[in-house]
Amino acid sequence: PRPIGVLALQGDFREHLQVLQQLGETAIAVKTPGQLEHIAGLILPGGESSVIDKLSRLYGLAEPIKAAIAHGLPVYGTCAGLILLADTVLDAIPGQQSFGGLDIVVRRNAFGSQSESFETALSVPELGTTPVEAVFIRAPVVESIGPRARALATLDDGRIVAVEHGALMGTSFHPEITGDTRFHEYFVARVRASK
Ligand code: GLN
Repeated sequence: PRPIGVLALQGDFREHLQVLQQLGETAIAVKTPGQLEHIAGLILPGGESSVIDKLSRLYGLAEPIKAAIAHGLPVYGTCAGLILLADTVLDAIPGQQSFGGLDIVVRRNAFGSQSESFETALSVPELGTTPVEAVFIRAPVVESIGPRARALATLDDGRIVAVEHGALMGTSFHPEITGDTRFHEYFVARVRASK
């Protein structure tokens, strides 16, 4: 099978590569447009969305990634990666762009300075009855979702923190650093089902 790529411009792409390898997948660090042609799916890691945005345009990756999304490539974004997948980004820095594709409005750094980082047991019905230990680090929140997107998890206050839409999915938090591989398994299954 074709490998799964992890966008490796900035952020915690190594952690994602490790999880994929742990699941027995061939994973590659994507740094050039040509590599996009060889992958079956793509993960956009956590990090700083404005930096990943800038570097992706600088290295000529932004347009090919948008085209791949439009052609149905399965993509999973965590935290900054979720921001990069959102059609609309609130509290972006001036000039910041996203690849888009996910029919959602996302707000960067939505949890304020008092709770910049926190961990919570999150119920994710799609992944079974055991809650997911979710780690939020200067995390975005999904402010609203369009009719084509679906919430996978919400906090107790109702705020949406995991979504899917067609071949795309995203989480406000970081499953790549907790040892719980269920979100990655869910994504890999989606990748392998897509062709
Ligand atoms: N605050 C970061 C951003 O706006 C996201 C933080 C993260 O990925 N942990 O991109």
